[in-house]
Amino acid sequence: MKNLHPIARAEGRELPSYTLTVVVPVFNEESVLPIFHDRLVNALSALNHEWEVIYVDDGSTDRTHFILQQLRANSQEVGVARFSRNFGKEEAMSAGLRLASGDAVVIIDADLQDPPELIPSMVDAWLEGVDIVNMRRSHRSGESWFKKATAHAFYRVINRLSEVPVPEDVGDFRLLSRRAIDALNLLEERNRFMKGLFAWIGFPQVTLNYSRDARAAGHSKWRYWRLWNFALEGITGFSVAPLKIATYVGLACAGITFIYAAYFLIKTLFIGESVKGFPTLIVTVMILGGLQLMAIGIIGEYLGRLFIESKRRPLYLLEGYQPSALVQSEEKS
Ligand code: UDP
Ligand code: MG
Repeated sequence: MKNLHPIARAEGRELPSYTLTVVVPVFNEESVLPIFHDRLVNALSALNHEWEVIYVDDGSTDRTHFILQQLRANSQEVGVARFSRNFGKEEAMSAGLRLASGDAVVIIDADLQDPPELIPSMVDAWLEGVDIVNMRRSHRSGESWFKKATAHAFYRVINRLSEVPVPEDVGDFRLLSRRAIDALNLLEERNRFMKGLFAWIGFPQVTLNYSRDARAAGHSKWRYWRLWNFALEGITGFSVAPLKIATYVGLACAGITFIYAAYFLIKTLFIGESVKGFPTLIVTVMILGGLQLMAIGIIGEYLGRLFIESKRRPLYLLEGYQPSALVQSEEKS
């Protein structure tokens, strides 16, 4: 594994040789892709090491596919995988991790919200011996206060509920060692809440801060309804606490009702009861009905996911994969 790196040789130091894979999920990013690729290549050539970049085209419907073909024609470091339809970013990242051949993988968004220039410092952190380099967004520009507030609340909730802490404000921009990638590739579940999976595998991790830029062009594909579902996915995938909450709410209700019943019994026996209390009756019936439906809904959320898992469908379908020259040269040797 050890060889002499040209700069290190000049300085009389020895650096391990490694290959780096950059995984980029892309969905309808025609407006930023060319700029992104230039900046990425600039950052990666500074490393003076072998690298490849795998673009996972998540079923784009604009000119993304065409641009990716051009990028691949122009540089042999580019690999392109294409999904048969839009499966989602989590699936695209999972595909990239399975296809990656490097000793380490960096996952990065195509919209330049994650600056490619930070990759060398992530690699440095990895070379110091950690398996996962998380990138924490210390500033998020170009996002509404509502998105920031809901994101904040989400991390609070998931960290209260799940047994493995999910670091707050850490997005999908991160570096993973080969060991960590192999561990992730073992996880077969269809619920791909990657932030949780990254935390679940453990291994030595380090978190670096960066300030997240606004999107360079195009628009975010995450609508609030989708984010809400994403949050549900995260919570149900990593915790059964909501099921327990239903139990405790039920218990509390039953307890209160029992006391209430005792009160009525005593009152009727000693004071007598004229038939009144219609509002109390209606309110009680409605509250109990509502709580029951809510509890059934929570069970339904889990049951639905169990149903999807039990079908064991593949996570995604590839329409095609054209690997980079790095993979081809490894296959030859
Ligand atoms: N993306 C994807 N599939 C999707 C939605 C998004 O591969 O269904 C990619 C997108 O091209 C980008 C990254 O995921 O590279 C982040 O998407 P976006 O910027 O829309 O999300 P945000 O930054 O707003 O969380
Ligand atoms: Mg973005």
